[in-house]
Amino acid sequence: MIKIPFGFITLLLLTFFLKAQSNLSEEAMLEKAKIIHEKAIVLDTHVDIPGKEYATPECDPGIDNPNLRCDLVKMEKGGVDGVFLAVFISQEDKFDGETYAKLKDNALAKFEAIERIFEQYPDRCELALTTADLRRIVSTGKRAIMIGIENGYAIGDDLSSLDKYYSLGTRYITLSHWRNNQICDSSTDETPKHGGLSDFGREVVKKMNLLGIMCDASHIAESSFWDLLDISSSPIICSHSGSKAVTDHPRNLSDEQLKALAKNGGVVQIVAVPNFIESSDHKKMVESLIDEFQLGERNFNYYMTDEEKELKKKDIEGYYAKLELLEKTIPAASVKDFVDHIDHAVKIAGINHVGIGTDFDGGGGVTGFKNHAEALNVTIELVKRGYSEEDILKIWGGNLLRVWEKVEANSAAKS
Ligand SMILES: [Zn+2]
Repeated sequence: MIKIPFGFITLLLLTFFLKAQSNLSEEAMLEKAKIIHEKAIVLDTHVDIPGKEYATPECDPGIDNPNLRCDLVKMEKGGVDGVFLAVFISQEDKFDGETYAKLKDNALAKFEAIERIFEQYPDRCELALTTADLRRIVSTGKRAIMIGIENGYAIGDDLSSLDKYYSLGTRYITLSHWRNNQICDSSTDETPKHGGLSDFGREVVKKMNLLGIMCDASHIAESSFWDLLDISSSPIICSHSGSKAVTDHPRNLSDEQLKALAKNGGVVQIVAVPNFIESSDHKKMVESLIDEFQLGERNFNYYMTDEEKELKKKDIEGYYAKLELLEKTIPAASVKDFVDHIDHAVKIAGINHVGIGTDFDGGGGVTGFKNHAEALNVTIELVKRGYSEEDILKIWGGNLLRVWEKVEANSAAKS
């Protein structure tokens, strides 16, 4: 007979018991996350559409489309109830009537593209123009689609275009994009143009307040942000931004901005663009690659002219090839990094002022949350970190709905 020491059996039993415990709690955690996720109105405030080909046979949002991070199938699978689709207008250095007319045509073509989803899939989604619409649509089990314009450049120099965009369903406008425009300075332009909001920009904000279009401060310079808080009579949103204290990127908000946003009653919707929320290991790796290929600065793609890009073609290709290889072991960001940004914003601004705006199909997508089908992973991570059901409901949609309702009420009171 083999003698097994008593201590060994105790250890064996203890190991088994602990393992069962941890498995159980993992399972219980998943169950809890699923229940909360189901209860929540799960909203994403920033999703891009590829362009005019959206909702044509070339780019069908009704199937599990390998070219889209957000389509109806992935939203249904991931329990995502509503998204703001972005009518994105690229920034040029021209500010004349002819350019503005062209921009308006571009914007209208994108509105038409979004309109096509409702014709193609009337049983699966519907346009929400109000918070009441959104709640009603979600309660029927359909996806609610909202519209935001990304870049106030689309307004041109004509305030009446805001009436037109509002009537087409626009419920927020991101005041600028990557460069300064006629409304305000951008956080990623090298030199200030207005030092904040322009005189025209101030008129735009007042009219947006009047109409009930949310002012979106993502992309705008810090100077523009302070001007906007001064002028807007409604709370504001940042539809897709991160926490600068966690990742020092000009697209993210400083702690001072987060505190001011809380005071304003607004909300920051945390972005899932890897560069904006990247891990420190990835940052170090990219910086050394930029040095190795002598590409100057991090966002060289935006700052280099076409001629400069042509001259550095070989280096740029080498950079991307090596980056792809290295990212297999050092991913830019994961769902944990994403939730780190949520954690920080909650710590500074409070639980009532943080939400989610991925920028899927516009650069967003991280390991573990690469598309809407994986939305539950965010809830699981939040549950693991001790967020309550009430907290998670606020983060996924409650906070954004509160701000939008305030913006609606303020507009109704003015008219
Ligand atoms: Zn953006």
